[in-house]
Amino acid sequence: MTDPEKIREKFRGLYNEDPLLFRSPGRVNLIGEHTDYNEGFVLPAAIDKDIVFGVCPRNDNLISFYSLDFNEHAETDLNNLHKSEIHWADYLLGVVEQITKTGEKIKGFNCVFGGDIPIGSGLSSSAAIEAGLAYALDHIYKLNIDKLQLVKLAQKAENEFVGVRCGIMDQFINIFGKENHVLKLDCRSLRFNYYSFDSDDYKIVLFDTHVKHSLASTEYNLRRRQCEEGVRILQHHFPWIKSLRDAKKEEIIEHKKEFTRAVFDRCLYVVEENERVEKACNDLSENNQEDFGLQMIFSHEGLRDKYEVSCRELDYLVEVASVQQGVLGARMMGGGFGGCTINLIKNDYVAEASKIISEEYRITFGKEPGIYVCKIVDGTGIIK
Ligand code: ADP
Ligand code: MG
Repeated sequence: MTDPEKIREKFRGLYNEDPLLFRSPGRVNLIGEHTDYNEGFVLPAAIDKDIVFGVCPRNDNLISFYSLDFNEHAETDLNNLHKSEIHWADYLLGVVEQITKTGEKIKGFNCVFGGDIPIGSGLSSSAAIEAGLAYALDHIYKLNIDKLQLVKLAQKAENEFVGVRCGIMDQFINIFGKENHVLKLDCRSLRFNYYSFDSDDYKIVLFDTHVKHSLASTEYNLRRRQCEEGVRILQHHFPWIKSLRDAKKEEIIEHKKEFTRAVFDRCLYVVEENERVEKACNDLSENNQEDFGLQMIFSHEGLRDKYEVSCRELDYLVEVASVQQGVLGARMMGGGFGGCTINLIKNDYVAEASKIISEEYRITFGKEPGIYVCKIVDGTGIIK
């Protein structure tokens, strides 16, 4: 958790006034990987790694940002929004642009922000800065934009201004996250419900491979195309299939000959992963963490063998984790080819398991993995 006093102090130093403070969390996704763009199901939760914003309205049209983590200023005029040479500023300027597009009238503002979400490790630091700012501006200018609209405009900021084709899950959980609960999101209807997740007995632990393969984004786009290809084939026979969300395993298997090996496997994975999310949610309702953990393991196997988005480092971390005492589940999380694994570990075993896993990783790959033990917290809000 980020200490808000750090932000307040910097803000006072720079702008000579006291800001309103907001906390905006990172997130994990327990299960449901690569299902979002297939209009399926995901199971994210907001975590106690966050970005804190200090914000004050101005009377003129100047927008002044200061990034504490990059030690960098970015300033612009509200009426002259365009892509910045400063990469992080685009995430924020995109949000300002989307808010002005709603027709709401705002003025300039001062903003200092910073936090402890590892950047680019798949914990969605980008959504945290977008949705956090959207929430803060809505608050200081009393815009009363509804929560779902805040989510959508934060996502649009990343799609249109930054130019990243991300789904809606990250911004959604950032705003709708609830302490000690995971959120099951239907990525088609955007209907959602909460499942209580007891973090007294179990901890969510992330191991960061500290690798980011350059093929991640090309492979991501290729997977999306392969899924679309699968839908096209299925539609010839089952015209009601609009996305893989609508497909059944039998339907895919029945027409196996028409698919390439890769497209067949991708489609099967997505259908199975959606089923796993359902099962995992039932397990949670029944307080059956053991079976929940098993679904995570199956999810990893699917991502490794059928969706083919894992890598040696991720597989290794999962393999070592899954044989440790007290580890109920382990899988790669996020787009793949690097980033973190997510693990469900019994409280009493967290320290011991983490020690062994990180030692083995260091011996094999010559570097320490990052270790993040997470609590499930509320979504973005004002700090009282
Ligand atoms: P992630 O998986 O963490 O969302 P992205 O590549 O989507 O990774 O977004 C990371 C980008 O978001 C960074 O390159 C930076 O521009 C911006 N960002 C994230 N966290 C911060 C921060 N604490 N301060 C400034 N910019 C940040
Ligand atoms: Mg991101």
